[in-house]
Amino acid sequence: MRYPVYERFYTWQGEGVHLGRAAYFIRLYGCPQACPWCDSAGTWHRDFRPEGVTLMSAEELAQAVRAESPDGAFVVVTGGEPILFDLAPLVDALHALGRRVHIETSGIAPLRGDLDWVTLSPKPFGQWPLPEVVARADEVKIIVHDPGDIRAGLETLEGLREDAVIWLHPEWSKARERDAGVLNAITEAVKDDPRLRAGYQMHKLYRAD
Ligand code: SF4
Repeated sequence: MRYPVYERFYTWQGEGVHLGRAAYFIRLYGCPQACPWCDSAGTWHRDFRPEGVTLMSAEELAQAVRAESPDGAFVVVTGGEPILFDLAPLVDALHALGRRVHIETSGIAPLRGDLDWVTLSPKPFGQWPLPEVVARADEVKIIVHDPGDIRAGLETLEGLREDAVIWLHPEWSKARERDAGVLNAITEAVKDDPRLRAGYQMHKLYRAD
């Protein structure tokens, strides 16, 4: 098994329950969801096709993680849509290093691999998540580009564990513009339903774009 690696980098987790913790990111190539506001379109859109995607085995990726990040940094496998790939060999290789492995996914296919943390982000433009992925999720991230995205996202979550955290994140262009409709909708939703948390993509505050 060789994985199409779009990019990999060592930084910190910018959102969710593990916000601010050192993390090594592996971004895999390919996603069928085609969200119009995708912030990583290079992983799937032909207009942003990268010069090259590196094919790497689980062992090669584990060696890169060991060389490029210290013990204790967990690994986030993201995309694109990483659930398209059999992650079991990669998770096993990273566990052999003592690394915990997280995934960020829209949940459109069965999970493969003994993952330590599942962040589910249902996407309203393509396929909704499979019930088995909803049931496995540790946290959910609903991206709010329009106030209606809140209800639409919540409707996909039947079977979610009671202890799973549900984040409402303003889509980045809406956050940057301080879009009152979106931000107020998140505030009101959280006030109405204490299961929900208002979130933010903190890492984007650290970028100059
Ligand atoms: Fe982009 Fe994620 Fe949507 Fe795929 S699911 S198009 S990677 S935002």
